[in-house]
Amino acid sequence: MKTAQELKDEYDENLKKIQSKCEHKDTTWCIEEWAPAHGTGWDVRSCKNCWKVLNRKTTCINCSKEIMISEEEYKSLDYNHPYIHHCCSNKCYKEYMDAYLI
Ligand SMILES: [Zn+2]
Ligand SMILES: [Zn+2]
Repeated sequence: MKTAQELKDEYDENLKKIQSKCEHKDTTWCIEEWAPAHGTGWDVRSCKNCWKVLNRKTTCINCSKEIMISEEEYKSLDYNHPYIHHCCSNKCYKEYMDAYLI
């Protein structure tokens, strides 16, 4: 009898395998939610076949420029925070925070 943790580990492992082999030919954009009906502010493009998130886009809260980044870039963002506001650069983030905090 397997534990839930073992099943989950197995699932994660298998998912990683198909994601690394998949060519991600059939993709779709959808709104990312951290909870039902609560968007994170990002639209994510994921593969319909393996569910891997390939990239994501949003709009800069400060200058309204479209921001499109890969999932790897997203994970390495240093100004990333769990709210709906996103900025295209640290400069915009600072400008926005300065304006917002007054
Ligand atoms: Zn795929
Ligand atoms: Zn900006």
